[in-house]
Amino acid sequence: MAALYGDWEAVIGLEVHAQLLTRTKLFCACEPRFGDPPNTHTCPVCLGLPGALPVLNDGAVRLAVRAALALGCTIQPRSVFARKNYFYPDLPKGYQISQYELPFALAGELAIEVDGERQRPRILRIHMEEDAGKNVHHASYSVVDLNRAGTPLIEIVGEPDLRSGAQAAEYLRRLREVLMAVGVNDGNLEQGSFRCDANVSVRKPGGPLGVRAELKNINSFRFVEEAIDVEAKRQIALYESGGHMVQQTRGYNSEKKETYLLREKEGDTGYRYFPDPDLPALHLSAELVQEIARSLPELPDARRARYVSELGLTPYAAGVLTGHPKISELFERTLEIVGRAPEAQRVEVVKIANFIQAEVLAGVRTDGLEATLPIGPQQLAELLELVRAGTISGKQAKEVFAKTAGTDRSPKEVVGSEGLAVMSDPGELERLAKELVASSPKQATQYRAGKTNLLGFFVGQIMKATKGSADPALVNDVLKRVLAEGG
Ligand code: ADP
Ligand code: MG
Ligand code: ZN
Repeated sequence: MAALYGDWEAVIGLEVHAQLLTRTKLFCACEPRFGDPPNTHTCPVCLGLPGALPVLNDGAVRLAVRAALALGCTIQPRSVFARKNYFYPDLPKGYQISQYELPFALAGELAIEVDGERQRPRILRIHMEEDAGKNVHHASYSVVDLNRAGTPLIEIVGEPDLRSGAQAAEYLRRLREVLMAVGVNDGNLEQGSFRCDANVSVRKPGGPLGVRAELKNINSFRFVEEAIDVEAKRQIALYESGGHMVQQTRGYNSEKKETYLLREKEGDTGYRYFPDPDLPALHLSAELVQEIARSLPELPDARRARYVSELGLTPYAAGVLTGHPKISELFERTLEIVGRAPEAQRVEVVKIANFIQAEVLAGVRTDGLEATLPIGPQQLAELLELVRAGTISGKQAKEVFAKTAGTDRSPKEVVGSEGLAVMSDPGELERLAKELVASSPKQATQYRAGKTNLLGFFVGQIMKATKGSADPALVNDVLKRVLAEGG
C-alpha cells in the first residue's frame, strides 16, 4: 500500500444495496420486474396514494435474514422501519421506508484475500429498505417509471476497514458471491440489483479518520477500484497543497479517470427520520433465525477451502469452480456420479476439474443466478469415463464434447455413431511409425545421437496423422522401438 499512496493511508467503507430476489415488492403485491414497460407494476401502495397501507413481505424478511446470517451478523430480535423524508419525483410518498436507528442485523464480517494476505473487514449493520422509482430523462422532458418503487433491498454498511481500491473490489466480489450462493441476490450490476457507494478518506497511518467523500453509483468492480485510488490520490494532493476536505458526494468519470463533485453532503438531520406509524416493529424469533441458519448452503469460502484440502485442487481451480453456483453444482454432481464407480475405475477429480475449466466454461452463459451450461453432469461423467477407459483419446473427448454441447445426446452414442475410437492397432501404428522415421532421417539420426527429446516431435506427427485418435502410451512404445531398431 505504501507505494500506492506514499506515506498516506486510504480508508474506505462501502455501502452496498442488494435487491432481494422476492416475487413481490417489500410492502405490496406488485412484481419487481426489470425491463417491462414503465408503470406496469404499480398499485396504490407503491404509487404512494393517500390511504394505502404497507404490509411487510415475509419472504423479503427471510431473504434479508439469510443474507445477514451468511455474513456472520447478529440478528436483532426487534427492529423498526422509519420514514426517511425527502422530495424527489421518483419518490411519490415523499419518504422512503428504511430501517434507521434499529436495523435488523449488526456486526458481521467477510473474508477477503488480496496479494496473498487474508483479511476480515467488518460489517457494521444491515438494514432493509424499499427502492425508489426511476426518473428517465429525454431531450426536452423527463418521465417517471415507478416499476422499481418499493423493490425490497438490503443495505450492507461496511466498517471503514478497507485500505485500497483493490481491497474494496475484492470485498465487493466476495460479497456478491456470498449473496448469490445463498440465493438472496442475482448479482446483476448492469440492472442495478447490486450497487455500491464507496466512502473514501485519507490520513497519516495511526491518525484520526479524515473527512470522507462518497463515490456514487459506480457500476463495475474495476471502476470502483480505479475511482477509489484516483479519489485517494486527489485528497492527498489536496492536503499536501494546504487545502482541506469538506464532506461531499462525488461521481467518477472513467474516461478521464477523474472524480467530480456532485454535491456537498447534507447531514441526516435533513431527512427527519421517524418510526413509520403504518408499520409495527419487526420481531424476529430465535426459532425463525435458527430455521433459516440451518437452511444455509455451504458458503463459497468454505467450499473453496474444501476443494483444496479434500479434493486436492489448486486454490486457483477452486476459485474458478466456485465462481458461479451453477458451475460448482455441475462439478459436484459429476463428482457424485463418478463416485459411484469402484474406486480403482474412477475418473480422477482433477480430470473433471480440468475439463470444466478448459472446455466447459467457454460455453457457459450466466444471467444472474441462472446459467446455461453446455453439458450436464451425467454427460460429463460419461464422457470422461470414455477417456479413462481408453475408448477415446483426450483430443477426441473435445470433439465429442463439441457434438453434444447444448444437446442431450449421450457421449457414448456420439462415439458410436461417429465411429470415434482410440486407434490402438499396434500393427498399423508400427507401419505409420516406420513410414515417419523413414521420411524424417535428420531427426531420426539426431534422436539416435542422444537428442531423445525429439521423441515428442515423432509422437506429435503420429497424433496428427491419426487426427488425435492414437493411444499416446502405445505410440510412445512403438516409436521408441522403431527408432531403436533402425539404428
Ligand atoms: P451515511 O449513510 O450518511 O453515508 P454512515 O454513518 O452510515 O453515513 O456511514 C457510511 C459509510 O461510510 C460506512 O460504510 C463507513 O464505513 C464509511 N465511513 C465512515 N467514516 C469514514 C471515513 N472517515 N472514511 C472512509 N469511510 C468512512
Ligand atoms: Mg452513505
Ligand atoms: Zn405495488
